[in-house]
Amino acid sequence: MRVCFDTRPGGANPNEDWVGGSPTLAIVLDGLSTAGLPTGCRHGVPWYVAHLGGHLLATLAEPDVPLADGLAEALGRVAALHPQCDLSNPGTPSATVAILREQHGVLDHLVLADSPIVFDSKTGYNVITDQRVDEVLPELRAEVERHETHTPGHREALQRLVLAQREVRNTSDGYWVAGSNPDAAQHGLTGTTKLDEVRSAAVMSDGVSRLVTEYGKATWDEVFVTLRRGGPSALIENVRRIEATDPTGIRWPRYKSGDDASVAFCQW
Ligand SMILES: [Zn+2]
Repeated sequence: MRVCFDTRPGGANPNEDWVGGSPTLAIVLDGLSTAGLPTGCRHGVPWYVAHLGGHLLATLAEPDVPLADGLAEALGRVAALHPQCDLSNPGTPSATVAILREQHGVLDHLVLADSPIVFDSKTGYNVITDQRVDEVLPELRAEVERHETHTPGHREALQRLVLAQREVRNTSDGYWVAGSNPDAAQHGLTGTTKLDEVRSAAVMSDGVSRLVTEYGKATWDEVFVTLRRGGPSALIENVRRIEATDPTGIRWPRYKSGDDASVAFCQW
């Protein structure tokens, strides 16, 4: 598997995405926004995703380890790195997870929350994503979308949403993300695809996939044409160019003007 990747922050703040790869793995993590609220952790989201990504590469080095088990092991190892922090805080640093692994002629995938994996297969595009987060708290999400980004009303509505999300995060009534509890690893979507059915695949954060799903400014076919011709960097530049035409989120209401964007493009 040939993996090439890029990641860019959405604005002036540090990047809370993480992307990494190896000849058998492609991994994207998208750290959840804290909206400036307390987390109980003095390290922060960029620290969390960097360490979770590094530990995933290690725990999945053994090809026969199920992806969920490797993720659970990595979550436990990262939690053990900062016992002095309050890991029971509902705002503890958390991230979506998307993992693609090649082994023994098949592709294993695990998707926890809304960072999608898209397969460019011989029968069309197959999108694997878990959008349970978009099914909870619809009124509070709508309130955020009523405000232009960078306004006090937007910031306050986003904080109310994030506080409410923390109450249902990693519970059976809400949605599951990678955090301090290894049990979350068992709630991802997993599956297997035969390698000979796939031409290429892209693992991405929603900061990239929104070009298709929210902005409607490209088809998956056009996304893969861009990836083949210009690689991940060209695709992220396309997203930024579109967002620059709507800097305050009037046309496309969103949580921030530009979201951190990552993509790992896998070819054979
Ligand atoms: Zn910490």
